Amino acid sequence: MSNPDDETSDPRGPATRAVQGGRQPEWTRMPGQPGAIVNPPVWRASTILYDDVAHLRAALTDQHQRLFYGRKGTPTSWALADALTEMEPGAAGTMLFPSGVAAISCALMAVLKPGDQLLMVDSAYDPTRTFCEKILRPMGIDTLYYDPTVGEGIAAIITDRTRAIFLESPGSLTFEVQDVPAITAIAKARGIVTLIDNTWATPLFFPALAHGVDISILACTKYIVGHSDSMAGSVTANAEMWKAIQSTAYLFGQMLGPDDAWLALRGLRTLPSRLTQHQKSALAVAQWLDEQPAVARVLHPALPGSPGHALWQRDFTGSTGLFTFVLNGGDDKARAALIDGLAHFGIGYSWGGFESLALPVDPQRFRSATQWIAEGPAIRLHIGLEDTQDLIDDLAAGLARFQENQK
Ligand SMILES: *Cc1c(COP(=O)(O)O)cnc(C)c1O
Repeated sequence: MSNPDDETSDPRGPATRAVQGGRQPEWTRMPGQPGAIVNPPVWRASTILYDDVAHLRAALTDQHQRLFYGRKGTPTSWALADALTEMEPGAAGTMLFPSGVAAISCALMAVLKPGDQLLMVDSAYDPTRTFCEKILRPMGIDTLYYDPTVGEGIAAIITDRTRAIFLESPGSLTFEVQDVPAITAIAKARGIVTLIDNTWATPLFFPALAHGVDISILACTKYIVGHSDSMAGSVTANAEMWKAIQSTAYLFGQMLGPDDAWLALRGLRTLPSRLTQHQKSALAVAQWLDEQPAVARVLHPALPGSPGHALWQRDFTGSTGLFTFVLNGGDDKARAALIDGLAHFGIGYSWGGFESLALPVDPQRFRSATQWIAEGPAIRLHIGLEDTQDLIDDLAAGLARFQENQK
């Protein structure tokens, strides 16, 4: 576990690292010319031309961040990978993927082998669960789902076959914050690898490796890209797991195209200021919703009463724009009336862009270790960068439509 005081740690703050990461002079300067461009450009390649046969042979020995073959990347993807590594204290390296799901599946394949058992948080992103059932289980790797609030209780469900524990904090749709330090300490003592889907907080608000996690995964599609126009995933690992992640990604032929890498790197530069605003606006909307009689509960880690709120206060340095609220009574039709009439919220899955979104969610369909019991239907919101008052007015009219349709 790295800590902010050890001598290998970077003295720069996280926002400075987001602005400066991956801008190596050899990727921003032209040989023989003074001056530099700010952001590494898009380098597109399949073939790499070698200077001579001796160079071709020599290149075989170290292909990491060297021009070798298009699949091993170009300076555009190396710059993004390096910048993400710099965002994560304690990291040895980052591999890039064409989507968040590709990053999750490859990280699991790097760690697990037939006969192993995986402990998976019950509030995991649904396609993560589906990967465990449709790909891992037929390979002889079984998944046991655990309560996101288990904390130290994880020790009781570990068996001799447990090879890895997968966390997602806060959880998808229901936003339970996990006791990451407690779980990773127990895992370390038993030689078990821990992985986390850190898409919601990003390393800016939750440096996962510094909290004891071995492998941190991001759907860069969300806040890193930040503009809803590109898809990408990343896996950042500590020194123990880095070689396994790197070789598994290479063996599966996984990579991120240079145009998407460039868009993600461009997004990363403004991540700190975007997240600051998403945080502020989402909190204002969540607090307003919490006071409305038509709303039974707001599941937002920064609100007291949300599951794991004290852990969020202890471990996170911020909250982002995605949360869920539960309606008081009502049915699917009343919920649809609320959502369908919204003027400023799109209806869509992939959050993390500058725009607001509303989505009907039914967590009971994706839970097996725990039960989802709610006062009414639920809606997940992504609060974008619009004027907060416009969003609140829109939701107020939506709640009136909900109540009208409830009668
Ligand atoms: C969207 C999402 C993913 C998957 O990312 P894609 O790039 O869409 O494949 C993984 N985890 C979480 C928590 C997500 O919200």
